[in-house]
Amino acid sequence: DVPVVAVVGRPNVGKSTLVNRILGRRAAVVEDVPGVTRDRVAYDAEWRGRRFTLVDTGGWDPDAKGFMARVAAQAELAVAAADVVVFVLDVTVGATDIDEAVVRILRRAGKPVIVAANKADDVRGEADAAALWNLGLGEPHPVSALHGRGSGDLLDAIFAVL
Ligand code: GDP
Ligand code: MG
Repeated sequence: DVPVVAVVGRPNVGKSTLVNRILGRRAAVVEDVPGVTRDRVAYDAEWRGRRFTLVDTGGWDPDAKGFMARVAAQAELAVAAADVVVFVLDVTVGATDIDEAVVRILRRAGKPVIVAANKADDVRGEADAAALWNLGLGEPHPVSALHGRGSGDLLDAIFAVL
């Protein structure tokens, strides 16, 4: 069976940009406005000759009532269907309360989690990524979805647990 890799995280951390980077084409919807990606979108992808299904998530409005509950519900659905979860955070912001809520969901689900410390565009960002060890989800992998830094190492880490 083709493994399913779900990309989760709060809006605007760069999930869709990362999905595009991995796919190598501009497929997922990326906008500056948080929460523009509708529902969950699955793509056929490949890394080092191995096929996998890459699932982008989103679709919630952070200003809406019950936002936290919707983030939680989305994450839970995506995680339930995944073999491995890529949890994306924004190193320029650090871990927020919403991120912490997602961490609790991921812990409960018991699926393998790869922490993607995104927006690590430069050396300073890579240093900031180390702070995410505190999440207790293992090694944070610094990536810049925008510039492509670290995306190969991230994919190797994903396949190491598959
Ligand atoms: P999503 O809501 O998590 O899917 O986030 P998006 O992929 O739509 O990205 C949100 C914003 O962050 C966009 O303006 C992206 O260009 C920007 N972004 C995404 N990845 C990076 C990155 O690695 N570095 C920087 N500086 N910006 C990024
Ligand atoms: Mg998106």
